[in-house]
Formats: sequence, structure tokens, C-alpha cells
Amino acid sequence: MKSLIKNILIFLLVFLVIAAIFSSYNFTRPKIKDADIGQLIAQLNNEEVQGVVIEENSLLITLKNGEQEKLQKEQGESFGEIIKNYNVAPEKISSLNIAVKSKSGWAYWSEALLPFLIPFIFIGVFIWFMMRQVQGANNRAMMFGQSGVRETPKNQKDKITFKDVAGVKEAKEDLDEIVEFLKTPKKFVALGAKIPKGALLMGAPGTGKTLLARAVAGEANVPFFHISGSEFVEMFVGVGASRVRDLFTKAKKNAPCIVFIDEIDAVGRQRGAGLGGSHDEREQTLNQILVEMDGFDPNLGIIVLAATNRPDILDPALLRPGRFDRRIVLDLPDINDREAILKIHAKNKPLAAGVTLRKLAERTPGFSGADLANLVNEAAIAAARQNKKIIDEINLLDSIEKVLLGPERKSHLLSDKEKEITAYHEAGHALVAHLLPHTDPVHKISIISRGRAAGYTLKLPEKDRSLKSRQEFVEELAVLLGGQIAEKHFFGDVTTGASNDLREATKIAKKIVTEYGMSEKLGLRTFGEKEELIFLGKEIHEGKDYSEKTAEKIDEEINMFIKNAKETAQKIIGGNEKQMKNIVEKLMKEETIEREAFEKIVGPKPKK
Ligand code: ADP
Ligand code: MG
Ligand code: ZN
Repeated sequence: MKSLIKNILIFLLVFLVIAAIFSSYNFTRPKIKDADIGQLIAQLNNEEVQGVVIEENSLLITLKNGEQEKLQKEQGESFGEIIKNYNVAPEKISSLNIAVKSKSGWAYWSEALLPFLIPFIFIGVFIWFMMRQVQGANNRAMMFGQSGVRETPKNQKDKITFKDVAGVKEAKEDLDEIVEFLKTPKKFVALGAKIPKGALLMGAPGTGKTLLARAVAGEANVPFFHISGSEFVEMFVGVGASRVRDLFTKAKKNAPCIVFIDEIDAVGRQRGAGLGGSHDEREQTLNQILVEMDGFDPNLGIIVLAATNRPDILDPALLRPGRFDRRIVLDLPDINDREAILKIHAKNKPLAAGVTLRKLAERTPGFSGADLANLVNEAAIAAARQNKKIIDEINLLDSIEKVLLGPERKSHLLSDKEKEITAYHEAGHALVAHLLPHTDPVHKISIISRGRAAGYTLKLPEKDRSLKSRQEFVEELAVLLGGQIAEKHFFGDVTTGASNDLREATKIAKKIVTEYGMSEKLGLRTFGEKEELIFLGKEIHEGKDYSEKTAEKIDEEINMFIKNAKETAQKIIGGNEKQMKNIVEKLMKEETIEREAFEKIVGPKPKK
């Protein structure tokens, strides 16, 4: 927009300059007076006339005193006739210089056409300016097929290497091999080994896939070509494919190098499984990737890395040998990895003495590398906003909750009544969680709004674990229902505050029955076939692979699990009214209760 205005201004300026030149040109010409026939005859008779130039119907008369005048004569009437008609004596004429000039072609045409042309020329110039404008914006669109690839050349100054990536030990070991291929391909070729073409990095979002791919390029010190799968999917069919071609052309020129296709699931979904409009485009792009990967010489030294968090939906053709045949899994970091990741991200940040990253790592099970980076950053921001010179432990611990649940909403003021209901609700969750043996210990209870929740109870596992037992699920259901049951028990009514809990509980109960085979009645099988229909992004469509009769049984089982959980929670809350009231009292006073204070009220958590 700004440049459009600029162009219009330039245009006006040019216009003014031209106008100025024209007008000054006119001023510098000697003045030519208009005359009429009578005057001319008188001047002829007085012998004042030096010469006459006849040009079509106009006469340019030069007088002996140097002045000039001009005069229009009638069409078709010659100068000679005029003179005859006015009875000018012939001898007065004989001394005259009479010249007849026909108009030069250029002058004639310009005089005739210029008045019409000038507006057109101006309009034309204006349109040309506008076009240039639009083209500037569209330039990218015109060069569609080429843009989108970002290159990080080798010998970058602050390049990322493996030591910037904490944890993911196995992944790094696997990738070490690729680094070696890139560094010394000859060693492998000499033995007749075929260097693998591609490796697929798989892992949850934020586990460091993109970071690790960069680190491989940094370690091997080769150029890094980076494009994201979603960038292939454009409005026009064929653009993605041409981008792939361009990407590989560039890579071939720069071999050895790494081509990195981030979020490859955007194009690499199973073909023929969708209804989406961009489906054809995706298929073409994917085909082009396959063609390019098959096409280049494996010993050229191009290694294609790709990343995805949905390996389950990738097209099998991508995973065939000769393509992404190395598969590298990045797990969520365990406690030691978390500590190491925190250390990397705390490196340039002044931490208060006594802050132990180990403690943070203990409190952040399930956090990804990106979450941890975010946590440290949020803490630094909070400390800066409080005008502190160092980041203290409170900043860090607060950030855990901020990353988990969203920012505190201090302005979201609850009325005293709402506060009390929220306090009972959270106390319900907390007490049920505390008294059941297989649940995670309660770390914090709060009735300060965070994100969308009015209050929250933070439970954290003692240890990282990847398996969960049936009993743990059953108890978790009771904890989820504890909130609403406390409301009902103490107020005789329930609020909307529990809808999230109920949705979560239903989801878990359904999984217990249909996915984990934990229901005795229905036995060891799964129900429902998960199938991905690609429609408007993503949508899970569940195919039914069971009868209506079984569907009824599933519903019954789900209800049974929920009902049992409800009874468990009711028993705990009904039987511990005194403790509930103590928790609520403290919550109303202080708004948050930490683990130590909580266990002072309710005693230590019973052992399993
Ligand atoms: P992904 O591509 O798997 O979604 P990224 O590689 O983009 O995740 O990670 C995002 C950020 O999280 C990184 O830029 C880095 O700051 C941080 N991060 C993630 N994993 C690690 C790790 N293992 N070590 C250090 N930092 C990490
Ligand atoms: Mg990524
Ligand atoms: Zn709740």
C-alpha cells in the first residue's frame, strides 16, 4: 500500500515536470499576433510586409519591422485570389517573399493525434505502474515452483551440533552413521556399500526432530535444505511437485548435503484415503518425492531426512527400502534427559543460587524438549517483568503450571460463592487422589483460574512410566469424578465446572473397554477400527467392526466403570467431610496449597 502511494506521487511529479517544460517552451517562443484580412491588405498596401509563408489554411506573415502575425484563410481560397479580390496592386506583391509550405508529416500527425494520444499515454503509464506493483507481490506466485526451500550453507558461524541436543541418545547414535556417510562417503563406496538415501525422524511434537536434523548437517558440516511438508501443498495442482524437483535440483548441485522435509505427513499420507480437495495435489507431490528419491545416485552424498509425528499415517511407499529405510524414534525425555535439556536452555540465563534443575526435571514428567525450552523462557520473562536480575525458583515453578495449564487469570474474579464451590470441587479431586493408593501424589491445589479451568489440582507421577494398569485407570476415573461429587455432596447441586472432567472420564472409560481390553465382560479384543479420513484437515472416522448388540454391551460396560468410580469417590468424600472442610478453609484463605501444606492437613499418602 505504501509503495502504491509512492508510485502515484512519482507519477504526479513526472506529470508536473512535463507540464512545466511544455508551458515554458510556449513562453519562450516569439509572440505571434493574430491578424485579420483587412489588416493584412492595409499592410500590403503600405508595403510593410516582408514575406508570407502559406501553410495549408494559415498564413504566417513576417513584417519588415520583424514582427510576425498569423492569419487563417478560408478553405479552398488561395492567397492569390484573396489579393485579387481585395484589389491589391500587383507591384506591391512582386517584392514579397511568398513561400508555400505543406505541413511536414510529423508535425501534421502530431498536431492531429497528440491531443488524443496524451491521455492514453498517461493512462498507459499509470497502468504500467500499477502492474509493476501487483507483479511485485505476485513475483513469488510466478516463481512458485522455486521458492520455499530454505538453505543453511555449511560453515555457519553458530551452527547447531549434537551437543545442542540433549537426550535422545539412540537417535544420535543412529544419526552418527549418517554424519559419517556425509563426511567420508568414499570409505563406504570403496567397500561397495550403498549409502542409505533417507532417514525418517519420528516423535511427538517438540521432541527435537527439527533440531536434530539441523544438528546432523552441523556435525557433518554440509549445506542444509529445509522445507516443510505443508509448503508443498499449494492452491494449484502441480506446484508441490515442481517444488520437489527444484529442491532436489538444488541439492544435487550442492552435494554432499542434507535435504530436510519437515512434517512430511502433510504430503505423505496414505494415498487414496481422502476426500479433501487438495488430495490430487498431495498425491502428485508425494509421487514426485518418490521419483526424486529413486532418481539420484545413492553415492552422490545427498541424504534426505524427514520428520513426522504421525508415522502411522504415512504412505507405505515412503517406508520402502531405498527411500526412508532408516527410522529413528525420538521419545519424550526421561528425567535425566529433561535435566540435560533444561541445562542447555538455562545456559545463558542467570539462575538464583540454590535452583536445582533436577527438581524441575522431577516436576515435569511428560514435558517435551520444546515445553522445557518454553518453561525456562517463560521463567526468564517473568523474572524480567518483576525487575529481577536473576531467575529464582518460584519463577521456574510457576512456569511449569503456565506451560501445563495456560497463564493465570488473576483478573478472572470469582464471587465468594463461586470461589467456595470451586474450592470444594478441587478439594474433592485432591482428596480422592490422595486417598486412593495407585494415583499420582497431589503437588498443588489452586482456585486461581488458569487457562480455561476455574481451579486445578496438579498431580505428578513419582517416576516416569510408560505402562498404566487397569487399577490406575479405575482410580483416575474416581479422581476425575471427585470434583462434581464434592459439589453435589456439600451443595446438593452441581455446576458446569465439571464438564471437562466428565468428558475426560468418559474418554478414559471408553478406552478401557474398547482399546485396552480391560473389561472382563467384553474380553480381550478391541472395538472399532480407527481409520483416518482426510477431510478438512483431519477427522477420525471410526468404522464399526461389531454388532449392535455388542454396542449395547460396550455402553453398559462404560457406564459400569463410571458408576463404580462414582461410588468410590462418594465413599471417600462422604467419609471425610472434616478433611474436606479443612482443605476448603485453607484454599479460601490462601487460594493455593502446596504438597507439604496439603499433607499436613490430610496426612501422608497411603502406601500401595
Ligand atoms: P519438533 O520438530 O520435534 O516438533 P523441534 O526440534 O522444533 O521439535 O524443537 C523445538 C525446540 O525445543 C527446539 O528448538 C529446542 O529449543 C527445544 N528442544 C527440543 N528437544 C530438545 C532437546 N533434545 N535438546 C535441547 N533442546 C530441545
Ligand atoms: Mg518440527
Ligand atoms: Zn474438576
